[in-house]
Amino acid sequence: MSRNARTPAVHVIDPMADPAPLPEITVDHFRENGCTVTCVVIDPADAQQTLYGTVTRPDGTLAGTYYPADRVRGEHWRIVATDGTHYHAASEFDAVEWLSTTTPGGGPDTGTVECGGCSRPLTITRQQWERDASAPCPCGSGADLTFHRRHAEWGENL
Ligand SMILES: [Zn+2]
Repeated sequence: MSRNARTPAVHVIDPMADPAPLPEITVDHFRENGCTVTCVVIDPADAQQTLYGTVTRPDGTLAGTYYPADRVRGEHWRIVATDGTHYHAASEFDAVEWLSTTTPGGGPDTGTVECGGCSRPLTITRQQWERDASAPCPCGSGADLTFHRRHAEWGENL
């Protein structure tokens, strides 16, 4: 491969000015929950298929990226968090919502749920919140996490 000195390997382009065989691509920006969402959209005049999107928090850090695994139908949305964890999202809206409301780090932070038996506050990890049906309590009862998940999002006051 020879390198043309006048064309650097990476350079700024106007996607609308790309030559004919390539599909029309635009970059959209919008705000959601204070975060900036940038999505690369193919053929905006016609089918409006998102290639992928990125969500940036107000402090400029990346929350993560999302894309449709089935781009033609715009279905099977996937999220890639900054730690490399891959998530499934029911829709593009859900992907953006999740990325724009999820607290930085994701892993080590903890939350509090109330024991259904003795009402004592129980500290749980985010992993417990997302994975477990219940959180055990020393009283022998516990918190019904399935119930809590139906009524609150992680990060809200539970
Ligand atoms: Zn208890």
